[in-house]
Amino acid sequence: MTQVHCDVTSCSYNKDYGCHMDPINVGGKGASFENLTCCGSYLNKHTYSNLAEYTYRRGEADTVHCNVSSCKYNESQLCSKDHIDICCSKETDYYMDTNCGSFEKQC
Ligand code: SF4
Ligand code: SF4
Repeated sequence: MTQVHCDVTSCSYNKDYGCHMDPINVGGKGASFENLTCCGSYLNKHTYSNLAEYTYRRGEADTVHCNVSSCKYNESQLCSKDHIDICCSKETDYYMDTNCGSFEKQC
């Protein structure tokens, strides 16, 4: 299980910095830096605001699918870390502006 803390408050799935989408998909195959990763499940609250009411009832995310095979926490396309931080812009309108702040490059 992976707990997700998220700073991106402009996402429909964000409530009180918790993520209410499960599973989420983190992307950035072959990334060598954190800013080359992103949360592919981001949904713009300004466009999809009504969806948030529904998603909050589902509970918080606990599974992270991830294709960042260059990260040391990636095990068969799943995140093996018990807690990750998605960041960094609170008010972005684009999923590409989000990052996995817990990315660590494999040695
Ligand atoms: S940006 Fe990703 S991690 Fe953050 S709330 Fe949205 S779906 Fe969840
Ligand atoms: S910590 Fe690594 S494996 Fe886990 S979601 Fe972030 S980039 Fe993917």
